[in-house]
Amino acid sequence: MRNAALGHIFELFLRIPATAAHYLDMDTKLVDLMLRDLQAKTERLVRDFAKFCESLPGHIDDHDLERYHLGMVKDEGELAALEEHLLWCGVCVDRAEATQRYVDAVRAAACE
Ligand SMILES: [Zn+2]
Repeated sequence: MRNAALGHIFELFLRIPATAAHYLDMDTKLVDLMLRDLQAKTERLVRDFAKFCESLPGHIDDHDLERYHLGMVKDEGELAALEEHLLWCGVCVDRAEATQRYVDAVRAAACE
């Protein structure tokens, strides 16, 4: 009788970790799936947003990007508008960085 009860408890003991591991594994798989889904959605959103930005009129033109980098934009309003645009527009940030590299290269060449 006592042995039977012990045997039963032992059997339960053996089962619990397996069950826990099973559910834990399911949770991990579920979280993994959710993460992958979220990642795909984020990538789609980033792509769509980039496309949307490129389709917007009123990007900063190359000349203004050069003036901005050279510190030639003195007008407060214009400067604020340029900086605000650069806060959200990845397209112009990329172009601003390219302009910066170009201006620096020209400067370095001029100094030689
Ligand atoms: Zn822009």
